Amino acid sequence: MPEGVRTPVAVETPQHSGLSGALDYLSERPLAPGTLLRVPLGRRDMLGIVWHTQVPASAAPESIALRPVGEVFEGLPALSPAWLTLVDFASAYYQRGLGELALAVLPPELRKLDAPGLAKRLARLIKRLDKTPPAQPDGEVSKPELGEAQRQAVDAIELALAQPRPMPLLLHGVTGSGKTEVYLRAAESVLAQGRQVLVLVPEINLTPQLEARFEQRFPGRRLVAMHSGLTPVQRLSHWLQSLLGRADIVLGTRMSVFAPLPRLGLVVVDEEHDPSYKQQEGARYSARDLAVYRAHLERVPVVLGSATPSLETWQRAQEGRYQLLTLAQRVGHGALPRVRLFDMGVLPRSQGAPPVLAPLVLQSLRERLERGEQSLVFLNRRGYAPVLHCAECGWKSGCPHCSAWRVFHKTERTLRCHHCGFTERVPRACPDCGNLDIAPIGRGTERLEEQLAELLPGARIARLDADTARGKGQLESRLAEVHAGEVDVLVGTQMVTKGHDFRRITLVVAINPDSALFAADFRAPERLFALLMQAGGRAGRDAAAAERSEMWIQTWHPKHALYASLKTHDFAAFAASQLAERRGAGLPPFSHLALLRAEARDASVALGFLRGAAEAAALLPGADEVMIYPPVPPTVQKVAGIERLQMLIECPSRVRLQRLLADWLPRLHAVRAEHKGLTRWAIDVDPLAI
Ligand code: ADP
Ligand code: ZN
Ligand code: ZN
Repeated sequence: MPEGVRTPVAVETPQHSGLSGALDYLSERPLAPGTLLRVPLGRRDMLGIVWHTQVPASAAPESIALRPVGEVFEGLPALSPAWLTLVDFASAYYQRGLGELALAVLPPELRKLDAPGLAKRLARLIKRLDKTPPAQPDGEVSKPELGEAQRQAVDAIELALAQPRPMPLLLHGVTGSGKTEVYLRAAESVLAQGRQVLVLVPEINLTPQLEARFEQRFPGRRLVAMHSGLTPVQRLSHWLQSLLGRADIVLGTRMSVFAPLPRLGLVVVDEEHDPSYKQQEGARYSARDLAVYRAHLERVPVVLGSATPSLETWQRAQEGRYQLLTLAQRVGHGALPRVRLFDMGVLPRSQGAPPVLAPLVLQSLRERLERGEQSLVFLNRRGYAPVLHCAECGWKSGCPHCSAWRVFHKTERTLRCHHCGFTERVPRACPDCGNLDIAPIGRGTERLEEQLAELLPGARIARLDADTARGKGQLESRLAEVHAGEVDVLVGTQMVTKGHDFRRITLVVAINPDSALFAADFRAPERLFALLMQAGGRAGRDAAAAERSEMWIQTWHPKHALYASLKTHDFAAFAASQLAERRGAGLPPFSHLALLRAEARDASVALGFLRGAAEAAALLPGADEVMIYPPVPPTVQKVAGIERLQMLIECPSRVRLQRLLADWLPRLHAVRAEHKGLTRWAIDVDPLAI
């Protein structure tokens, strides 16, 4: 055996190889944990990270000759022990291979570089950074005088900054209550201490606005963004600036929770309730939860901000595990819109279908038009109609590859499946019986736009949804039109409700949000409440117009408790009633869940795998403390010809659930081998959609 130091290295080994820890290599000299390097794996040469712990599963017996490490990336600071521990935690908690996860959260461009290549990039970057110091040192920039509640929140965060082990803070405040101003002030203190600030936002579309505010406030600091919209070269450059400690502020989407930050002083998670923080493939981590863990690890405060906190977070605040900071009012005491419910049940039905807009709601829209104010009409379904139908023979526009209807897109003249993408031209006649009179059923945003144009002649109507915002820059240009006042009525899906700071909107209309009230997913009401609060928050941001701002909800269930809480803008009441229900039903946050998902062309293969998995689980220690439910299909069972099934695992204790999952995983590899034809399987810990 050659001379050398045994060195554990995290490399990308696919989860299904069963290799879950770091692999051992030999190095001529000791290498600091966190050092990046290249190592041989099989016949390939891969990027790796020197790890800090020996993971037993991978420790090769002494007798096996270890391979020597390859090039070491000199000149690059090692990733910190806290970073390595964060990845250890995420890998164990979300049941993914260590190397797979560690490498997946590095900028992809890094893998393509050899040591000299990286050294050259690094030298060029440092030279450029030295040549272009930030515009000006921290000078006087104008900032508003804080309101009383804001002052208290900032004081609380500053106190937390001075503590050796600060508690997470929940900043609860409606849209426009000045949360961002609180983040800015807290960031100011942290930057003044010479430390870095990490700011997470749920969606890439929301980064430019916040980026602009941070840049404007801190012209003397370097800010870098991290999200999937960057080019690979930009992403590497921003990551390097962050690792080198040259970036003072890192602002980005969920991936940035893994940004290397040697001087981290504060973490902010804006809109902490947003489902986008949960990764939906690979390692299905929650960036919000990892942000809390990271802050705990690095002993810095984390501020979770929201108008409608997730019930998990809210419950922790109620239990005193998070410190609750409340901004009860809008800045300048601008009123929240008056929420009005229209009972669709009272309308006379002409030919069976109710009108798209109730007369009172239509009148409210017309008033806005006359006053030159803007309105926002929101319907969470895109396309012209969700299905085409032949009344003669009963044909419907199903997708041949999915258990779903194909959506009718009128301007495009297509039938398009929103699950697999299968698209065809709209048939002239019924494909089954030749009837020429095939008709759309139901309504999407495209049809709504058409109907509004008929009802509001002369109004300038714009639509914002995944179809109209597809192309690069389309979203931005549409938003710019709204801001410039070139649009009277903005129609769209939930895309219109997020974060955009529209000044001149005084009316928000939700067309028919009821379906979520009775959905199978227990989180549907929580999401609906958040969505409607957020939509309502778009109105009346301009204090002068706030008094006459309204939100109309067209509903068949005006007496529902959710709407009652919404009318009074009472998140606490809504949360209390939801939490009581969840406690009674033993649902999160009062229990902990994991989903085992399985996919196969043949549903019986997926079912067989899940049943085998359940049998294997029953034999594990602690199995009696865990509830395993029978396999069920998700809402859409078949997508692109693949049948999908899932099995829910529930346990009152997070620790016991974790223990079971860790014991189970190696057995699942064995069960999988017995079920040929299984295309994919995955564990989703703390799943968001059930
Ligand atoms: P949120 O993040 O809760 O939506 P913001 O921090 O964006 O709220 O504040 C809403 C608006 O009010 C912004 O235009 C902001 O500049 C302004 N603002 C915030 N705090 C104050 C304050 N104390 N005095 C005056 N204006 C403020
Ligand atoms: Zn037909
Ligand atoms: Zn399809």
